[in-house]
Amino acid sequence: MLKCPHCNERTIPFSKALFTRTMRAKHCSHCDKAWRISMTVVIIASVGSVISIQVALSFDFNVLFAFVLGALIAGGTYYFCPLSKIEVSE
Ligand SMILES: [Zn+2]
Repeated sequence: MLKCPHCNERTIPFSKALFTRTMRAKHCSHCDKAWRISMTVVIIASVGSVISIQVALSFDFNVLFAFVLGALIAGGTYYFCPLSKIEVSE
């Protein structure tokens, strides 16, 4: 579970964070405030996984291994980067 950026409760399932698109806000089940993945995290995760797959393939690693490595790097980025708050103005 990931911490909600508003109330710091671990209310956000990792899978939910992973499949959330940047533009779509999700709500915390504890404080009901909105959060999302920041664009920076999405970019780092995509670029990081693509680069790692390229590097793994260039070293003649197994293709499956290359993709698993890419997925791990993308997942790790999502896991360790903080989620963004969405301040609701209305
Ligand atoms: Zn919360």
